[in-house]
Amino acid sequence: MLAVAAAAGSCLGPGPGPETRPVARQALPEPPPEPPPVTGPAPGDGSFFAHGRWQPRPVRVADAAGGRYVTARGRAAPPPGAGGPLVRYLVQVEEGLPITPRRFAAEVHRVLGDPRGWAARFQRVDRPPYAFRVALSSPDLTDRMCLPWRTGGRASCYNRFRRLAAINARLWGRGSPTYRGDIASYREYVINHEVGHALGHHGHAACPRPGEPAPVMVQQTLTLQGCRPNPWPALTGG
Ligand SMILES: [Zn+2]
Repeated sequence: MLAVAAAAGSCLGPGPGPETRPVARQALPEPPPEPPPVTGPAPGDGSFFAHGRWQPRPVRVADAAGGRYVTARGRAAPPPGAGGPLVRYLVQVEEGLPITPRRFAAEVHRVLGDPRGWAARFQRVDRPPYAFRVALSSPDLTDRMCLPWRTGGRASCYNRFRRLAAINARLWGRGSPTYRGDIASYREYVINHEVGHALGHHGHAACPRPGEPAPVMVQQTLTLQGCRPNPWPALTGG
C-alpha cells in the first residue's frame, strides 16, 4: 500500500511548469443529460454486458513491453457542435502491447469528444505542433515516464515536463478495483483525469460528500473517498 500512497502525487510535477489557463467544464443544463440507453446486439468481439453498458473484453498486460512508442497515424477532427478552444493532441501506444494504436486512439478521441467532457475542441494529430500526448504504456514504461514520481506500476500520471499523459495499460486493460469491473467507465475516467492535468487542472480534488459522484480530479484509481465513481468533468459541481 505504501507504493500506492506514494503514487498519490504522481500526476503533479514539482515546481513551476508551463502555466496554462485551465479549460473549463462544459456548461450543461440541469440535470445533466443521461447517456443514451444501450441497445442493439452485442458487439461480438468478446464484449460483455455489465454495469448497464457493454464492457470491453479484459486485456492482460505484462510488466514490460517494447519500451518505444508508436504514434497513431492520421488525424481526427473535433465532433460537430463541440465548443471551446482548439486543442491538438497526439496518441501513442508502446510497441508490443496487445492494444493497437488505432483502437486506443479511437477510444481516446471518443472520450474527449463526449459532451460530458472538457470544454474544448480536441483534434488528434500525428505530428507537431500539439499540446500534449496520450501514451498507453506498460507498467514499467509508465514508471519511467512518470519519474521522478513513482507510480509503483499501479497508477497513471501526467508529466507536465514531457507534456505526456502516461496511461497505465494494465489498468486500462482490466480497470481499477475502485470501479469494480466497470472497465468502460474506468477508461473514460483515466483519460478525462490525466487530460484534465494537461489542460491546467494541476491539483487534485476531494470527495465533497459521501455518496455523491466523485469529481473527476479525485484520484479515483486509488480511492473514491466515499464518493461514487464518476468519469466525467461535467457531472460534478464546483
Ligand atoms: Zn492526477
